[in-house]
Amino acid sequence: MDDQLLGSDPEPDSNSPRFVSLPVLERPANTAVAGAGAQHRRPRRSATPPPGAAVETHPVPRQVISAHSELFRRQFFPDVTRSEWNDWRWQLRHRIRDLAGLARVVSLTADEETALLRVGGHLPVGITPYYAALIHPFDAADPLRKMMIPVSAEFVQSAGEADDPLSEDSHMPVPGLVHRYPDRVLFLVTNFCATYCRYCTRARMVGQTGEYHFNNDQYQRAIDYIAVNPQIRDVLISGGDPLTMIDERLEWLLSRLRAIPHVEFLRIGSKVPVVLPQRITPALCRMLRRYHPLWMSIHFMHPTELTPEVTQACNRLADAGIPLGSQTVLVRGVNDDVDTMKRLMHGLLRVRVRPYYLYQCDPISGSGHFRTSVQKGLEIISGLRGFTSGYGVPTFVIDAPGGGGKIPLIPDPVVGRNGDFLVLRNYEGRTFQYPDPVPTNG
Ligand code: SF4
Repeated sequence: MDDQLLGSDPEPDSNSPRFVSLPVLERPANTAVAGAGAQHRRPRRSATPPPGAAVETHPVPRQVISAHSELFRRQFFPDVTRSEWNDWRWQLRHRIRDLAGLARVVSLTADEETALLRVGGHLPVGITPYYAALIHPFDAADPLRKMMIPVSAEFVQSAGEADDPLSEDSHMPVPGLVHRYPDRVLFLVTNFCATYCRYCTRARMVGQTGEYHFNNDQYQRAIDYIAVNPQIRDVLISGGDPLTMIDERLEWLLSRLRAIPHVEFLRIGSKVPVVLPQRITPALCRMLRRYHPLWMSIHFMHPTELTPEVTQACNRLADAGIPLGSQTVLVRGVNDDVDTMKRLMHGLLRVRVRPYYLYQCDPISGSGHFRTSVQKGLEIISGLRGFTSGYGVPTFVIDAPGGGGKIPLIPDPVVGRNGDFLVLRNYEGRTFQYPDPVPTNG
């Protein structure tokens, strides 16, 4: 096995010279995100290749850059070419990871600055330049900003919170493999993410060095476990974010799992198409389509994330035959109202992603400021169901603390009985009777 292709992905030292120095913040007043149709055209290249140069017979489709991203690139990365900006490796290497980096692109509040200075040893900060461009630089209430930039409330532990509220660590028969349901497993393959979401359920492990190691031996032990448990028909590959791995490493895992006869289908859980859409290259899609049936769950949170770049990434994945579903966490101040959620769900359907789960925020340590009441989630589902396409209504779930698995929550439409009729309430609040004779004994 090649160590270069299989191994852990530790976070680099934030003092590394690889991290760029950004110019100071100076934004025009109008910082609205460009509409989905706004795209810049690349300057035309000479049609005649230089002597001896390879002639490209299958030109790589152009990577979209939205007008908003282009403005941000020119302002804060003026020395970076469009092709560097479109290179997912460049985006990963130049993630914004500390107070100094953020202060150059966002006007930070005193509370954010204090929290950024405390973050050492906690869930790290990491934001791709692409995603940083979407964060409002002057509005502390900006939903994307709340998801990415720590505040001091993150360090307050509330009752019922835990570092591992779903007890994943105690459901691992081998390290990195969570086996909670009879026929499926969660295979954690990296602790590295393109961006770190402040409400992350796996904040205990992502971006950290220490007890969580991802290496050849661990992968092999997990694959061996799956191979000797024929009831496992579904493997969800997650992390961290598996799409931050290079194609060869990911393919190594997919090919080994696909070779196990009883594994019927594979899934990848990822936020990369949202925060690093440049990663969804034609080469990656060609590789992924070799391992069908392969499905993907993408972590979307807010309609602002549905940019031209993300649209292109989702279209590429869908064109590769990968069924796409979304997983969204209900987060206070981010997406906890019907209008925002409806815009997100409609936008997802437009980019060929089926809304799958809406999660009640897990009670991880320091998440009190993110959690809404459960009732709020039910109200949102009530505000979607009937008012929009059934395909646009996700299943609202609580992942039960302690490892009980996902429990769906559905606004109850049953009002009661009227003799042999069931009384039901529709989405408008009107009641209807359905003939449903009461069963007689014998
Ligand atoms: S991308 Fe997923 S695993 Fe990574 S920090 Fe965000 S929620 Fe956690």
